[in-house]
Amino acid sequence: MRNLKTSLFVSLSLICWLIFLSFGLMPALPGLISILTLLGGFLFLYLRQRRYLKQLDVNSEDIQEKINTLSCEIKTKEEYLGFLPESTDRLNFFKRLIEEIMKFQELTDVYGFLSKEIKVLFKDSDTFLLYTIEKDNLKLDASFKEENSPIIKDKEGDMLDYWALRHNQGLLIEDIAQDFRFDLEKIDSLKTRVINSLIISPMSIGDKAIGLLRVESNKKQRFNFEDLRILSVIADLAAVAIDRANIFRRVQELAIKDGMTGLYLRGYFIERLKEEMKRALITQSSIGIILIDVDLFKRLNDKFGHIVGDLALKKLSGVLKRVIGNAGNVICRFGGEEFVVFLVSSSKEKTKEAADALRRKVEETPVIFRRNRINFTISAGIAVFPEQARFLEDLIRKADDALYEAKRQGRNKVCVAK
Ligand code: GH3
Ligand code: MG
Ligand code: MG
Repeated sequence: MRNLKTSLFVSLSLICWLIFLSFGLMPALPGLISILTLLGGFLFLYLRQRRYLKQLDVNSEDIQEKINTLSCEIKTKEEYLGFLPESTDRLNFFKRLIEEIMKFQELTDVYGFLSKEIKVLFKDSDTFLLYTIEKDNLKLDASFKEENSPIIKDKEGDMLDYWALRHNQGLLIEDIAQDFRFDLEKIDSLKTRVINSLIISPMSIGDKAIGLLRVESNKKQRFNFEDLRILSVIADLAAVAIDRANIFRRVQELAIKDGMTGLYLRGYFIERLKEEMKRALITQSSIGIILIDVDLFKRLNDKFGHIVGDLALKKLSGVLKRVIGNAGNVICRFGGEEFVVFLVSSSKEKTKEAADALRRKVEETPVIFRRNRINFTISAGIAVFPEQARFLEDLIRKADDALYEAKRQGRNKVCVAK
């Protein structure tokens, strides 16, 4: 609108000037007035234009700022969108991890699964360690390592593990040589393998730490805070899965183990014996059965009370575990003060030797009660599969007959079935 006015003003001045010209009246004064008017018009036009350009300048600054802000926003959104597939992958990973890990009831399955998944997740790692706490000390329960990495010798953790446990927080070391929090001399694991970066996360149930996860690399700067954050989420899940598997194991044990002595119950023993008999037939080996009964146990109970009787049964269980509790052998509380054991790959002679050693050990192991040393003895009957009986019932009956013979011979004796 203002431009229009200016244009009109200039046009009018021009027209005036032309009129003066056409009438041949070109005396100096009117001509000067019209020139001045014209110049005034141009000056006005120039000033208007400058103001307008200035305003444009200010506006363009505003616009530039807006463009900058917008491109910043676009960049953030782009980054977010760029991360989206990655975070969706992670979400899917954790969803699958939760579903899978909660299926396992056995500890070994939980450990195996974690080792496999962590190897896939932290591609730059070469060693993974899973420790659990046993009697306030760390115990290595699972691990993986690259084929060419040295054997993991520190089965009880090092100062870095105990640091994470003591502070109950994750530990990230990007470059171990530059991390002045720790004295490298005191880190035991460094003596047996090259570690340059690592992450450690404690596994906790509530406030109680139950162990930790540790991922290492022999290269520097292989992990960052995001990796530590992911490891701590896995550690939380792992803690729940391990706790659950432990509960499952205890429930299972409750069904197959005797509460007082911790020995197997009859049902489990019979099932295991059946399996071992099949295996022994294939491998052509023999199985020795020892049936054990505490001598004059009623008298012991009557004389010293049931507490002493119970202590004697526990004592006997301990001796059984120590003397014949080798891998493969199964010890069972058959009922009351009767126990039964099977020894895998054991001949008649070997079984007799084991039973004699057991009898002698029990004889010299007293129950200590109110400063009294109370000795007791056992009698045992032996039968050997398949030499003396090919069926389970026959085998146990023969061992029972031999035990009866041992009692008949005056107790504290071992007899072999005929
Ligand atoms: P023998 O030498 O002929 O075997 O004599 P015994 O006295 O051991 O034989 P008997 O079968 O007469 O006695 C077994 C006793 O064991 C009877 C029972 O009260 C006792 N007993 C069984 N189970 C337990 C237990 O868990 N604790 C205690 N304290 N006593 C038990
Ligand atoms: Mg008895
Ligand atoms: Mg008895």
